[in-house]
Amino acid sequence: MRSLTDSVTKLKGVGPKRVADLATLGIDTIEDLLTYYPTRYNDFTPTDITSAKDKQKITLQGIVVSEPLLTHYGYRRNRLSFRMQIGREVIVVTFFNQPYIKKQVTLNQQVTVMGKWDATRRQITANKLIKEQADQQNEFGAVYSVNKHIRQSVLQSFIRQAYEEYGNIIPTYLPRALRQRYRLMDRRQMIKEIHFPQTQMTAKAARRTAAYEEFFLFQLRLQAIRRAHRQEDGNRILYHNDELKEFIANLPFELTDAQKKVVNEICRDMRQPYQMNRLLQGDVGSGKTVVAAIAIYAAVTAGYQAALMAPTEILAAQHAEKLSRVFAGTHVHVALLTGALTVKQHQSLIAAMKRGDVNLIIGTHALIQDDVEYANLGLVITDEQHRFGVNQRQRLREKGDHPDVLAMTATPIPRTLAITNYGEMDVSVIDQMPAGRKPIQTQWLKSNQHAEAIHFLREQLEKGAQAYVVSALIEESTALDVQNATDLFQQLSADLQPDYKVGLLHGRMENDEKDKTMQQFKAGKIQVLVATTVVEVGVDNPNATIMVIFDADRFGLAQLHQLRGRVGRGDRQSYCLLIADPKTDEGKARMKTMVATNDGFKVAEQDLKLRGSGDVLGKKQSGMPEFKVGDPIADLKMLQIARADAGNLLATPNWDNIDENQPLVLYLQRHELETHFD
Ligand code: ADP
Ligand code: MG
Repeated sequence: MRSLTDSVTKLKGVGPKRVADLATLGIDTIEDLLTYYPTRYNDFTPTDITSAKDKQKITLQGIVVSEPLLTHYGYRRNRLSFRMQIGREVIVVTFFNQPYIKKQVTLNQQVTVMGKWDATRRQITANKLIKEQADQQNEFGAVYSVNKHIRQSVLQSFIRQAYEEYGNIIPTYLPRALRQRYRLMDRRQMIKEIHFPQTQMTAKAARRTAAYEEFFLFQLRLQAIRRAHRQEDGNRILYHNDELKEFIANLPFELTDAQKKVVNEICRDMRQPYQMNRLLQGDVGSGKTVVAAIAIYAAVTAGYQAALMAPTEILAAQHAEKLSRVFAGTHVHVALLTGALTVKQHQSLIAAMKRGDVNLIIGTHALIQDDVEYANLGLVITDEQHRFGVNQRQRLREKGDHPDVLAMTATPIPRTLAITNYGEMDVSVIDQMPAGRKPIQTQWLKSNQHAEAIHFLREQLEKGAQAYVVSALIEESTALDVQNATDLFQQLSADLQPDYKVGLLHGRMENDEKDKTMQQFKAGKIQVLVATTVVEVGVDNPNATIMVIFDADRFGLAQLHQLRGRVGRGDRQSYCLLIADPKTDEGKARMKTMVATNDGFKVAEQDLKLRGSGDVLGKKQSGMPEFKVGDPIADLKMLQIARADAGNLLATPNWDNIDENQPLVLYLQRHELETHFD
């Protein structure tokens, strides 16, 4: 019996050599071949000359009405031109430096040329000529991405053969109701039209079907995993509602509506008997920490322990300091697990955790290491979760007895990415800042406006402000980063001292030296802190209101936004100065985006547009799936719809017993092993 999983060797003309050739394109089976979609189509359909725009790339078909004339000029340069009649109009066709074309141009014959249209002079600068009348088939043909091992025409013939022999056993995955609703093709027709379309229109329609199908299948898999997780045992964290309410009422401020909403979402998850797996997103300063504190408090009132994992020791220490204050006088006992502990201290802390004497433990990924045991870990919170790999995420979920997991991030992840990337997680968003925050004012200066920047800085320092000055990022070398920061430090010291004290902070300094500098900055003994990007995370000084970033165009948008987030934390007006002479349009666009908006989500969306989805977190790191046809950015709406449709199908009782859905059931079974994305 034939099956789509048959090897390509079943095709005529595919021997060991061809098998190896096809494998270089990732093609092993008939199915691989049939879903090796074209990257584009050659379109030789003539353009309507009356509506062609100046400089447009067009295809023209007409009759040659003058002998072709070849003229030589300059050093080895030549021009070939002839007249061509299209309908009633006669236009001029010119080829540069392709003298051999002359042989293909015969008076009174029909030809097709492609090139750039000059609307005023009514002529085309052509680069391609097709002799004779292109027949319908060739007018519009699929073009595949190939390599030196295999030619277009060879690949095409294999695809055609595969379709002819296996086309009638291609199953359709998408349920009829969905195909009807969105006017999609069945799978067999889709595959036919994507490879051998008659017109641009049918090719487009086929690609639309393919994109939707791709999104739908991907979402179906993600959500099937999520459902499977939910059926696993989790803890029902039955927190003490009155105590929790009292805790919230005793906070020094009222929660924003956005905070209330996410607190409800989290609490609802915690009460449920399945394992919470939730991503909490909120811009820097939106108040995630207090939300985390509420969740921790809830877990503790239910008799559970909580763990908070930060990406660096500095951040862990800061969380410990903040949360110790928040929980002072409650029965939450906070401990910090750091590398700075002596062996003895470490051991006694581990023992206290095992006994359950400590009910909030804060640290880096040391928290999930093997010697750490918990009495009854109910909740794990990670901060800046994108810095942890998928493996670590999974390891966390497995630590203890299926704790609930809350992952916090200040790196705004556009909805698109959140859906694709963290599709196995639920997402909560704090999309509102606490009242009274003044938006940071951002300005972009050129490097020759250095004096202006210093002038502004002095003015602000005079008013009692404190400033960060960040030196350029040099990707290749930390040593150069340090050098840069040191140079800038010396220059600013010369500019500002002795009136103001300037400090220096970089990654090559000893830890206690760093600490000392930061303490001085916090205490106001240093007014200007020159630093490499180490300040991106880890320095928290609410009195700092100025952020100056040198060579700002060397930073990505996300990083610029993160750096800017170091200021604007109090109720005083804050400023961000970007100093940059970007050379590219993209660099300019980044500066303009920063000036235009303070909203991290808008910044992130813009970042996506400028760089493309693959780059935002780095493809590897983001685990972003690659789609063959669908574009999760351009086709976001479709992705969202497919997500909802997949969810609805899975929620339909007995969906997997319905005949029509058997191909989908098989599909899920076949891909079960691939469902771990790491
Ligand atoms: P994030 O962790 O999201 O960057 P934080 O939780 O550190 O933000 O909050 C930033 C600051 O805002 C903190 O000083 C915090 O006490 C304060 N804050 C948080 N929520 C509110 C609120 N609802 N009203 C006023 N201030 C708040
Ligand atoms: Mg739970």
